[in-house]
Amino acid sequence: MAGFFAAAYAFVAGIVAFSIVVTLRSEDSASPLGRSFLYFSLGTLLWNAAYAAMTLSLDEDFVRLVYRVSALGWGANPSLALSYVIELYDEYVARIRARWLRPLVFAPVPLIWYGAFAGKILAVDFEREPNGWIERMDPSSPWNWALVSLLVAELVLFVGIGLVLERRAKSNRARLHARLITFPVALLVVFVIIFHIVLPLAGLQSFPPTVQILLAFWLVVVAAKLQRYPVFSLSPRIAADAIVSSMSDMCFLVDNRGIVSEANEAVLGILGRGPASMAGRAASEVLSPEVAALLEEATGGRGAGELLVRAANGQDIPCAVSVNKVQDSLGDPVGYVVIAREIREISRLRRLSETDSLTESYNRRKMEELIREALEAQRRHATAFSVIMLDIDHFKEVNDQFGHDAGDLVLVELSRIVRTCIRANDSFARWGGEEFLVLCGNTMPEDALILAERIRQRIAERPFGACGTVTVSLGLSGARRDDTIESVVQRADRAMYASKEGGRNRTTLYGCDD
Ligand code: GH3
Ligand code: MG
Ligand code: MG
Repeated sequence: MAGFFAAAYAFVAGIVAFSIVVTLRSEDSASPLGRSFLYFSLGTLLWNAAYAAMTLSLDEDFVRLVYRVSALGWGANPSLALSYVIELYDEYVARIRARWLRPLVFAPVPLIWYGAFAGKILAVDFEREPNGWIERMDPSSPWNWALVSLLVAELVLFVGIGLVLERRAKSNRARLHARLITFPVALLVVFVIIFHIVLPLAGLQSFPPTVQILLAFWLVVVAAKLQRYPVFSLSPRIAADAIVSSMSDMCFLVDNRGIVSEANEAVLGILGRGPASMAGRAASEVLSPEVAALLEEATGGRGAGELLVRAANGQDIPCAVSVNKVQDSLGDPVGYVVIAREIREISRLRRLSETDSLTESYNRRKMEELIREALEAQRRHATAFSVIMLDIDHFKEVNDQFGHDAGDLVLVELSRIVRTCIRANDSFARWGGEEFLVLCGNTMPEDALILAERIRQRIAERPFGACGTVTVSLGLSGARRDDTIESVVQRADRAMYASKEGGRNRTTLYGCDD
């Protein structure tokens, strides 16, 4: 039987050790109160380990020594628990000004240790029986009655502070912790008084370690709650949670396999889908297939781009997406933080600022920007490009004959035709009035000539409704390294006038040297 009880104590010690490990992993472990909880658990561990060793031993001197050593464990526990709830009170109800209160809480500890080591409190004698050792107490010892009075006083304080915190603490977390600490500790103190003092004083022994087992399970619950609801510090995790949930941008945590593990509340407002419906699904499915490329890019650190995200109502929402790699403390990648900013308004304004409202092709400002970029790319990477200037022949007559509105329709239809002719690398803009400009990216003038001729023929071959056939004159030029926007456009313009002079409905190529 002694082996069984020793095993029970050792089991309790093991559970307490487990709760210590869990607490150490919690963000509260570094706070003063997290530390006092750790000391409390260590004390309980020592208490139970000592009892396990004691129960197994047959040597009375050893038992006496271990029994006293165990007081180093349990002796400080009520004070630690009390200081824990006093800190809660200080933090969440009112600041405690009395500086002497904290040391006073720990004042009984050295007295208990002294009493235990001097053999004055609790057991004064031990007697071996099959289940272990019976602790013989001295009912007349004033030390024991002082200990009982101290425990009763602490019991009253626990219940009192517990009730005050329950009513007055302004934080749910503080109330949760107060409930976790004060009432269970008060109950444990009652058990300690009954099982470890009153019953042994009456000559009755309680060998199954009831109090210790209850204590151990309670410690595990507290450790688990500390892990889940850190209360004593504004931990980085709580702060990060608060930042993410208050963000108006969508934020996703994505694991290494590209699966969304969490999304913030903003997704509901923007996409009309709740965060819970996204967890567990691939980011490329939830957001856009193009996200996969950004995740790939982010393996090197960061990826960014603009893409369309499909909302619950089928609408495609333009979003600026940035992907950042997340590493653990050892530097291993553990996933990604994906932030998607909805840019509907920005992209609407951007489109307005760069589009010609009649023909819906680019406007002159956008084309100037594109030519500037092309010139820069040419300077840096020696990529040739060409521009084609296009002017409608005798357009004034179209207006005069069929009206301005019919003329407008010709401009719209002509733009549509040009867009069907150009390639992905080309850009098309209304340069002004009935003049248009095509920028042929990465294209030598000789190749651009083929495109220009194709445009000319397509326009000429098809009648524009009531206005009949319309022709255009084109001028083409390749860009030089020392060109400016004005110089390259001017050359194309001069080439276009050469086409006009040459009889219209034709293309003229001005080489780099013209
Ligand atoms: P050319 O073959 O020499 O180019 O003859 P043209 O009649 O096209 O010559 P010009 O450049 O002098 O005339 C351009 C005309 O285009 C003048 C103007 O009425 C017309 N135009 C310019 N912008 C618009 C527009 O937005 N809508 C309409 N309907 N007409 C426009
Ligand atoms: Mg003109
Ligand atoms: Mg004209």
